Amino acid sequence: MKVADGVAVLELPMKVMGFDTVIYPTVVWDDEDVVLIDAGLPDSLPHLSERMDEAGVPLSRVTRVVLTHQDMDHIGGLNGLLKAIGHPVEVIAHEAEAPYIQGDEPLLRMNSEAPAALMAALSEEQRGEMRQLMEAARSREGVNVDTVVHGGEVLPYCGGITMIHTPGHTPGHLCLYLNRTKVLVCGDELEVRDGALAGPRPGLSADDSLARRSIGELARYDADIAICYHGGVWRDDTNQRIQELAREGARQ
Ligand SMILES: [Zn+2]
Repeated sequence: MKVADGVAVLELPMKVMGFDTVIYPTVVWDDEDVVLIDAGLPDSLPHLSERMDEAGVPLSRVTRVVLTHQDMDHIGGLNGLLKAIGHPVEVIAHEAEAPYIQGDEPLLRMNSEAPAALMAALSEEQRGEMRQLMEAARSREGVNVDTVVHGGEVLPYCGGITMIHTPGHTPGHLCLYLNRTKVLVCGDELEVRDGALAGPRPGLSADDSLARRSIGELARYDADIAICYHGGVWRDDTNQRIQELAREGARQ
């Protein structure tokens, strides 16, 4: 679905904890570059490829991939994607996420002890899905991060893409501000939840409190549109809503 000139969200189905949901990677393009933001799950490729065709930017045109963070629903599809593209692509992520993405460190949420409490609360079917995802995480091949960023950089592609470091959900979580179209790509830092633009979902971040405080980083940008990986596109008084969330995040 086209969001602005040279910006589209790619709606991909995802099954999580037995529920069907949708995730929203973003693609940004101009005549020279096609930048994909997040890569979906290991089995997302056919849908992703189809959505890109619909947006008029086939997968074969991708020149760069930016990963907002290390979670499997953001990087699980990366290996398959790079193989399918078939030519060198620049992979970009925050310095603090690179060791995980490269396979030098086990993914934070996919080590064997962390989800034990969560597993106990799940149904048998949900446990099966979770085990499958953890197995995919354990057996995944690391992918080299070509360019590490720290936040504050403006990548000179597609009218300028500003990197915003928003730690908390993971240590090196990134949001991206598209300078030309005033679109804020939020990763998991914001979410559209129960019909409203909201902060990071409680209980899912490495550091919930830090994740909420990081919303303040987004409040510096003049955003017309927010794209949330979970929940999709938000256009309603975006700036004002982000200012409110930032104030709440600072007050906690
Ligand atoms: Zn995440």
